[in-house]
Amino acid sequence: MLDMDPLRTFRAGALLAAVVASTASAQLRVVTSTTDLYDIAQAVGGDKVTASHIGEGYQDPHFIEAKPSFVLQLQRADVWAFVGLDLEIGWMPLLIDGARNPRIAFGGSGYLDVSRAMPVIDIPRGAVDRSLGDVHSLGNPHYWLDPENGRRMARLFLAKFSELDAKNTAAYTANEKAFEDRLGAAEKGWQADLVAIKGKPVVAWHTSWRYFAEYTGMNIVAYMEPKPGVPPSPSHLVTVIRAVKSTGAKVIILEPFYDKKVADFVAKETGATVLVLSPSVGGMPGIVDYLTLMQKDIAQLAAVVR
Ligand SMILES: [Zn+2]
Repeated sequence: MLDMDPLRTFRAGALLAAVVASTASAQLRVVTSTTDLYDIAQAVGGDKVTASHIGEGYQDPHFIEAKPSFVLQLQRADVWAFVGLDLEIGWMPLLIDGARNPRIAFGGSGYLDVSRAMPVIDIPRGAVDRSLGDVHSLGNPHYWLDPENGRRMARLFLAKFSELDAKNTAAYTANEKAFEDRLGAAEKGWQADLVAIKGKPVVAWHTSWRYFAEYTGMNIVAYMEPKPGVPPSPSHLVTVIRAVKSTGAKVIILEPFYDKKVADFVAKETGATVLVLSPSVGGMPGIVDYLTLMQKDIAQLAAVVR
């Protein structure tokens, strides 16, 4: 034999072992745009997937900085799951183009536009000019704040993971069912809070709370933004203050990344309370997963309007 160098033989053996091990434990590599998609993908994927997310829960998902490190994540991804409806239009094309990964490019097996599985609300009638500032020109993309849509997200991941990794379909099916069971149990726990919220007039900063309102029955009487994505103008604030006074709205809801001082001004003029709620997993301390996101947002709102 020509090759009797023991170290070299050892190296070849170790390399072979590493290749075998990586094949045996090959997990689907899932990258999501938001933490909410990440959390549900991880719940359904369990130990059969490795998941990561681009945006953080405390960032405005409309405006994420396209960092080079995100391109590296996408180069290796088997699945790219995103909210869709142009939520990621400002940064996603740059990352997808940069990744040059046909699996997750448009038309690829891992290109997962989650909005395609959702009943979308606020779809504009007729043409909408994005140049006028409306960031929801294809309809409202904030659908994850309704638990029924959380279930739709989980079922979509089940279908996609099973399609790409059929041998683990049983595990994905069991994980998805466990997620729905946990969500159903959690929903029972917040029924009293939903009763307290139903019909109560509220002001929201952005239309991100529309699906949450559909679910909870809260009545959004005004938005701080004159149109989605456009900051409040002084004249618009006059309209909001009038709406708060005429409806008796007791609370102004906003995300941590909006300008609380402006909401404080309206609160001071009207006696309403400003309530900062997390729009996503990881958006505020203690919001560790999708269930705590829904539970805490509902509980905090109920405590103010009750
Ligand atoms: Zn939005």
